[in-house]
Amino acid sequence: MLIVMKVDATEREVADVVSVITELGYRPHPMPGAQRTAIGVTGNQGAVDASRFENMPGVAEAIRVSKPYKLTSLDLRPEKTVVRVGDAKIGGDELAIIAGPCAIESRAQTLAVAESVRRSGARFFRGGAYKPRTSPYSFQGLGEEGLKILAEVRDTYGFKIVTEAMDEHGLDVVERYADVIQLGARNMQNFSLLRHAGRARLPVLLKRGLAATLDEWLLAAEYIMAEGNYNVILCERGIRTFAQHTRNTLDLSAIPAVRRISHLPVIVDPSHGTGKNYMVTPLARAGVAVGADGLIVEVHDQPERALCDGAQALTLPQYEQLVNEVRAIHNAMSPAAVG
Ligand code: PEP
Ligand code: MN
Repeated sequence: MLIVMKVDATEREVADVVSVITELGYRPHPMPGAQRTAIGVTGNQGAVDASRFENMPGVAEAIRVSKPYKLTSLDLRPEKTVVRVGDAKIGGDELAIIAGPCAIESRAQTLAVAESVRRSGARFFRGGAYKPRTSPYSFQGLGEEGLKILAEVRDTYGFKIVTEAMDEHGLDVVERYADVIQLGARNMQNFSLLRHAGRARLPVLLKRGLAATLDEWLLAAEYIMAEGNYNVILCERGIRTFAQHTRNTLDLSAIPAVRRISHLPVIVDPSHGTGKNYMVTPLARAGVAVGADGLIVEVHDQPERALCDGAQALTLPQYEQLVNEVRAIHNAMSPAAVG
């Protein structure tokens, strides 16, 4: 159920609807918009009785939602969500650039990459302290020590830090150091972790699962939002197909497809999406051209020595050139094309 308030509904009227939803044992999700406020209702097992709300003051209509997702959908919020991270934004007019190494390996490596990311003008710095690796014998990340290096980088350069949490305990630790919590492709359907992230106070960057449909991806976002955290950023990072010329198949059609059904910002990861250095820049350009709100890109000062994902890491000059190009593409696009 979705309760759409009249354009001139007062705060009191919204609050009254919220109280009734709570009294009925459901959870209200008020979403103030540019035109009107809509209130999503979750927690109901069967259908909610629309007549309970239809005649309340300030209510325009009570709509039964037939789609599996409610809070992520444009029905609830017709205008795009802009996720605010301090004084930076994802989903606004500016292209959001999140860049940094795959893994935080050392202070020296992190600072070398951070210098380049600063030169590029990007506002967000990435780097994994907890790494989901296919082999248990591969480098697993520095853990909290890595988070401390990231915190230093934030203090020195003013970046917003984006870093992955792999489990509930790790998420609590990440929350103490980061500005955005990344949930990785392998955890997209870790439902208890999604719920936990939904109770966190930081925005969540939710990667698409390795073989997830759009519905599954949006329902994963719905898990986070249903707990009250509405600051979710979707990230297309490629899916598993029969193709062998790339690590994953970057599904750029997902960007306009998500736009058509969801108000959430969506960004592209051309690094994991291709797995190959020479493909990252072309696919980053394409990701921006197709309307992404931003990019997350892996960069390394010495890719040949990287402990994780060296083959897809951009060198510092390659990365800085990429940022110039994608900004030019973004600036050439009309606001409508960006969604
Ligand atoms: C990452 O961004 O470091 C990462 C592990 O990505 P994904 O979850 O998309 O594989
Ligand atoms: Mn990586």
